[in-house]
Amino acid sequence: MEFFKPADIKKETHVVNVENTEKVKCLIIGSGPAGYTAAIYAARANLKPVLYTGLQMGGQLTTTTEVDNFPGYPDGVTGPEMMEQLKKQAERFGSDIRFGIATDVDFSVYPRMVTIDEKKVILADSIIIATGATAKYLGLEAERKYAGMGVSACATCDGFFYRGKDVAVVGGGDTAAEEATYLAGLCNKVYLIVRRDVLRASKAMQDRVMNTKNIEVLWQHQTVDLFGENGVEGARLAKKKGTPAEESVNIKIDGFFLAIGHTPNSDIFKKYLDTDEVGYIKTIPGTSKTNVKGVFAAGDVQDPTYRQAVTAAGSGCMAAIDAERYLSDMHI
Ligand code: FAD
Ligand code: NAP
Repeated sequence: MEFFKPADIKKETHVVNVENTEKVKCLIIGSGPAGYTAAIYAARANLKPVLYTGLQMGGQLTTTTEVDNFPGYPDGVTGPEMMEQLKKQAERFGSDIRFGIATDVDFSVYPRMVTIDEKKVILADSIIIATGATAKYLGLEAERKYAGMGVSACATCDGFFYRGKDVAVVGGGDTAAEEATYLAGLCNKVYLIVRRDVLRASKAMQDRVMNTKNIEVLWQHQTVDLFGENGVEGARLAKKKGTPAEESVNIKIDGFFLAIGHTPNSDIFKKYLDTDEVGYIKTIPGTSKTNVKGVFAAGDVQDPTYRQAVTAAGSGCMAAIDAERYLSDMHI
């Protein structure tokens, strides 16, 4: 990764022959907790931020019901309500929030170029990428049917609602092991549904799973369907699927947790930005700086580890402060 000092920057110039072009000081891409928090800070620092929301205005939290762990809401708050409040707070300080999707970027030029909806070009002195990450699902129709009614991709977020109940976690990696162990502390019983006969998780995490009494690992099982009247009441599994020994197994559960990985929404930036092997944007540790001058990343798109609303908001704050200092060093 090529680290840089803002003082080293030589202003590049380029000519854009597009009518539909606008120059901004600070462009924020994404409207989750990271993007809106960056907007609050950037607006208060007079960077006049323009924020494009993307398809999912408000981000991942708009797909959930209760958010119990974001500080400042002693009685909890729904995800959509909290995101509406963050939006209003960003707007109160003058953030220009617009619906649109960043469809292409050119970070080889300065100001940096971002194309919105394949037609409008934004030239930005600084950019904060806050495009989040998307949890992977198995692709079952039942996952949609029971979304928010027993199906979750975040044990830390939703585990609390399943205290004393039986749940299942799908996956065999560190996330699945971690989530199963976390849920085991809250729930009566946790099934860990593993498609192979080994865990991919680290040895330490495997030991934790094996040494937790109320976790039962279902080796070589795959989920075929979920069932239940008004929410998940069970899962239909196939053991040794596709072999002569295949058998059908039903388990009774109230919660079904996906832990089969996340996909960071970083595709359009990969040509210019360093990412890890999964696609998470790399930032200089302790900062939001990417390997491209003036381009910062915040929230889940650069966070393979925590992926929480509050950590996303915190890193959005960092990105706005980093952008403000960068612009000031550049005398912009
Ligand atoms: P996101 O919230 O993912 O937002 C990304 C934004 O980027 C979206 O607005 C999207 O439209 C936009 N975007 C993406 N691509 C583009 C593009 N090309 N152009 C423009 N915009 C783009 N965390 C908690 O702390 N507590 C909880 O209770 C909790 N519950 C959760 C429940 C569910 C069901 C899920 C899925 C997650 C939950 N999380 C919870 C995790 C939390 O939602 C995320 O950690 C947080 O939303 C990440 O914020 P973010 O701003 O990085 O990205
Ligand atoms: P991961 O390592 O990619 O593991 C994904 C798991 O899901 C694998 O076991 C995989 O099975 C399984 N899987 C994928 N698709 C599936 C499907 N369709 N059906 C059933 N199972 C499926 O992802 P992760 O666990 O989220 O971890 C991502 C990275 O973060 C890793 O590098 C991990 O080490 C790291 N991490 C570290 C910690 C920690 O150190 N505490 C915690 C969390 C994550 P197969 O094994 O059969 O492929």
